[in-house]
Amino acid sequence: MQPDPRRVQRVLPLFIPSGGNARDGHWSDRNARIRSIRTAVCIVTRTMREPWMLPPAKLHVLMVRQAPRILDTDNLATALKPVRDGIADGLGLPSDRSERVFWQFHQEKNKAGSLLIAISPWVTRCFGCGHIKNDAAQWDIFDSEKQIGLCHDCSVNVLTTY
Ligand SMILES: [Zn+2]
Repeated sequence: MQPDPRRVQRVLPLFIPSGGNARDGHWSDRNARIRSIRTAVCIVTRTMREPWMLPPAKLHVLMVRQAPRILDTDNLATALKPVRDGIADGLGLPSDRSERVFWQFHQEKNKAGSLLIAISPWVTRCFGCGHIKNDAAQWDIFDSEKQIGLCHDCSVNVLTTY
């Protein structure tokens, strides 16, 4: 599947430290680091804003932590929390729990340590008929991770064929 041509992407030379690691220094240093990540991400996100992102558009936000060491899933979500908050700030969302945004966390090995942010329209495609649909509720089968599903008409066809 081709990426949406409206996708806006930035790579920041920003190392995102591991999430819940107590030996990562004093809590006040840690809080300062979290605040600086949130602020930096907010500023960058503001530069990514496009008219198509305005409400009520639904957005798909991908965050990729690029670092020398791969984290477990829980730690990755915690580590990327200030990034998620910063993007919500930059987009002017009331909070990072906004139903307009589908958040996706990902990670890659990278020696230097950086962060990739990509914002695209939140569209989902039926793998039966290829139709684009925006409302997850009308899907019979839906994989939110891959943003792909099977619409009701297609699933009825599948069930009557087999
Ligand atoms: Zn379909």
